[in-house]
Amino acid sequence: MNMTFLPISKLIHLPSDSEVEARGWIYRARSSGAIVFLVLRDSSGIIQVTVKKGNLPDLEFEAARDAAVESSVVVQGRLFEDKRAPGGKELRASAFKVLGSAQPFPITEYQSEELLLDQRHLWIRSREQTAVMKVKAAVMAGARDWLRENEFIEVTPPMLTQNACEGGTTLFKLNYFDREVFLSQSSQMYLEALIFSLERVYSLAPSFRAEKSRTSRHLTEFWHLELEAAWIDYRKSMEVQEQLVTAMVQRALRDTREELVHLRKDIGPLEAIAPPFKRITYSQAIEKLQALGHGITWGCDLGAPEERAITADEAVPVFVTNFPKECKPFYMKEDQEDPRTYACADLLAPAGFGEIIGGSEREVDLSKMLARLEEQGLCLEAYEWYLDLRRYGSVPHSGFGLGIERVVKFLCDLEHIRDAIPFPRTVSRAYP
Ligand code: ATP
Ligand code: MG
Repeated sequence: MNMTFLPISKLIHLPSDSEVEARGWIYRARSSGAIVFLVLRDSSGIIQVTVKKGNLPDLEFEAARDAAVESSVVVQGRLFEDKRAPGGKELRASAFKVLGSAQPFPITEYQSEELLLDQRHLWIRSREQTAVMKVKAAVMAGARDWLRENEFIEVTPPMLTQNACEGGTTLFKLNYFDREVFLSQSSQMYLEALIFSLERVYSLAPSFRAEKSRTSRHLTEFWHLELEAAWIDYRKSMEVQEQLVTAMVQRALRDTREELVHLRKDIGPLEAIAPPFKRITYSQAIEKLQALGHGITWGCDLGAPEERAITADEAVPVFVTNFPKECKPFYMKEDQEDPRTYACADLLAPAGFGEIIGGSEREVDLSKMLARLEEQGLCLEAYEWYLDLRRYGSVPHSGFGLGIERVVKFLCDLEHIRDAIPFPRTVSRAYP
C-alpha cells in the first residue's frame, strides 16, 4: 500500500479513492453490529471513519469497536465521497490500531462550568478551546510581526521585582532568600530603562495581579504585551496602538478565519476594524454617560458598566483620553492643555467588551515624579533606579500595555476571559 500521512484538514481534500493514513483521537464513536462509525480528530480537523467487519482483520475490527472516546489511533484506508460527513469525505478503514486506549472520559455533554474547570487539562482538547488557542497564537504572531516590521525590539524584562508598579493592593508577594519580592504586575519600568539604548522596545510576558474582584475580564495571571518608545507623545502612541491592534485582528482573520466563524455569530464586525479608531476625551465620555442616565461624576474612574455604555453602539475600538489624575498611576505625564488630566488613553474594544489597552505619555520631570510618589506614600527606595532614568538623559516617551486575553475574548466573543487562556488563574483557582 502506498500510504500518505497527512493532517486531517489536508487529507480530507484528496480525491476520493485515495489510500491514506490518519492519526488522531476518537472524537465520537457509535457502533451497530458489524459497522463502527467513528469521528477522528487531530489538531487540524475532524474526519468520519467507518470500520466494517470483513474489511480488516477481526482483531482490528474488535479493537475499533471497543475503543473508547479519546483513545489515540492510527487508521489506514480509502477515501469516499459522503455529503453528510464533515468535510464531505469518509475514510473506510482497511487497518486500525489503538496506540493509547482511553478510560471512560470524565467529560460528557452538558457539564457544569466548575467540572470543566476541574478537568481543564482534558477540556482543552475540545474544539472550542482548540479554536481559541489557534486564534490566540495568530493574534500574538500578528503582533510580533507588525512590531518587527515597525522596528520595535523585543526585550525580556524580569518577572521578580521589588517595585510595586500598579500600586500595592494587588501584588503577589514571594520570599526571595532573606527578602520579600513581588511577581511583576507590569514590565513598564524596565521597558522604560531599555529605551535609552534601544529607543523602541516591547515585551510579551505574563503579568500577575492579585485581583480579588471576580469579574469576567480579570485573571490573576495574564499575558501582557507592553511597548515603550522614545520621542513619541501619547497621540503618536495611539496611532501605534490602532495599527498594532488592526494588524492583530487582520492576522487572526487571515490565519484562523474558520475558527472565528466557528466561535462567533458574525465575523463582519472584525473585518470593519481599521484605523483611525474613534477618540473621545474622558470629559466627553462623562457627559455622554450622564446623558444616558449613569450616576457618574467627573473624577470617578470608569468601571465595566460605563465602558460598556461608551462602546455599545461602536463598530471600531474607542480611545478614551485625558483621564483625571486621581484615576491613574503616578508615572503618567500631566496634559499641557488640561492639567487636571494626564496625557493618557485607554482603548476600549467595541460592542461593550471594555478596556484592552491602557497607555500614556510618561512623566519626565524628576521633581513632579518625586512629589507624586510621596503623595501616594510609595516607598522611594524601591524606585531609586527608576528615578535615575529621569536624572540621566531623560527623553520624552510613551508606552502602553495590552492584555492578550482581553483581545482574544473580544475576537472570539467569549463570555469569560478564563476561556482565553488554557490554564486560567483566578481568585478561586490555580489547579490544574
Ligand atoms: P482594568 O481597569 O480593566 O482592571 P487596568 O487599568 O488595571 O485594567 P492596566 O494596568 O492599564 O489595566 O493594564 C494594561 C492592560 O492589561 C489592560 O488594558 C488590560 O487589557 C490588561 N489587564 C489588566 N489587568 C488584567 C487582568 N487582571 N486580567 C487580564 N488582563 C488584564
Ligand atoms: Mg486592573
